[in-house]
Amino acid sequence: MFNLDRIREEFPILKERVHGHPLVYLDNGATTQRPARVINKMNDAYLRYNANVHRGVHHLSNLCTDANERARQRARDFINAQRAEEIIFTRGTTESINLAAYSYGEAFVRPGDEILVTGMEHHANIVPWQMLCERKGATLKVIPVSDSGELLVEELPRLLTPATRLLAVAHASNVLGTINPVRQLVDAAHAAGARVLIDGAQAVQHLPVDVQALDCDFYAFSAHKMYGPTGVGVLYGKRELLADMPPWQGGGEMIKEVSFERTTYNDLPFKFEAGTPDFIGVIGLGEAIDYLSSIGMSAIAAREEALASRARERLRALPGLVLHGDAPLASPVISFSIPGVHPLDAGTLLDRLGIAVRTGQMCAEPLMHRYGVTSMIRVSFAMYNTFEEIDILLDGLQRVIALLSPSR
Ligand code: PLP
Repeated sequence: MFNLDRIREEFPILKERVHGHPLVYLDNGATTQRPARVINKMNDAYLRYNANVHRGVHHLSNLCTDANERARQRARDFINAQRAEEIIFTRGTTESINLAAYSYGEAFVRPGDEILVTGMEHHANIVPWQMLCERKGATLKVIPVSDSGELLVEELPRLLTPATRLLAVAHASNVLGTINPVRQLVDAAHAAGARVLIDGAQAVQHLPVDVQALDCDFYAFSAHKMYGPTGVGVLYGKRELLADMPPWQGGGEMIKEVSFERTTYNDLPFKFEAGTPDFIGVIGLGEAIDYLSSIGMSAIAAREEALASRARERLRALPGLVLHGDAPLASPVISFSIPGVHPLDAGTLLDRLGIAVRTGQMCAEPLMHRYGVTSMIRVSFAMYNTFEEIDILLDGLQRVIALLSPSR
């Protein structure tokens, strides 16, 4: 049973007041709030068993190492990876994608090759591939987006060529919410001999993810968007592929033996984890996964879908507001414009009412161009949001339109 009151109790920040109003936090796509149990777990680790991992023979180091490896198992179970060594801890989705782009690129991308991305990617899933293409003399190609915010998959036969080495695609768009048909894309890419990286930054917190069922080669996500701490993320990769990729950063823990003549590298996943990791953050990620699992991803998905469909319906009916994207399958992320009103002004006015929304180009400038705007207003829901908060948002937007819209 989904117990909203109990869930909201777990997030003390939701009781904060902003400019004299109760906080209405609708910027969960940027970062979610963390439940007290995640913060307490990290606090407890700092206070009772803080020690560097994989290094010491002493008691605290062993405790901390065990806690980190348990978190790796939890991450493995969470996305149903086949093996724990396929879970690499990183600083977040951005670092996960940079790692994959660099290391996969070093091993497999040659001049004349092609990398395929989509028109709805976050900059984190564009720029590392662009940098790779520049380094290797490869070409970046793009799957276009329809007016309704869906990928034009019918373009795939034209875009996937024998030169395509990899397709990088968001599981869910951080702007439109669109959930992409990733399994279909993986099959098409594999049939063309290309690998697939899925950017799961906007998916893992909203729906059950099974990397074996998806058959993707890489999957990236961030802890801070799924009720966990900042500074931690995961890159999942298929073991046989990771084994053939060179390390991307050198330093402690990624080595087996070092001499001035030659260094040999550690086994997976440590080959890709140079330097002291955010080992307390990793413990926090493990706790966040436990928390999500205790509620159940299907229950979370159902709750958020109910919130998002009500919000979409109400926003669509609001005169003076234009919704962007209308895909039938979407995460609880909704972006819109108010013609004649700058998103920054709208966001500032909403903030005065205690409502936190995202405004700007959402780290997706090419998608802004696709819709002919320079910025948008985005509301993104989490399981702890309420239907009353949707009413407050709508009242706030009506005030924005009445005050700022030239046509009203
Ligand atoms: N990809 C998507 C779809 C995102 O929404 C984000 C963050 O907003 C990122 C990648 C980058 O995540 P991070 O900043 O946690 O590395």
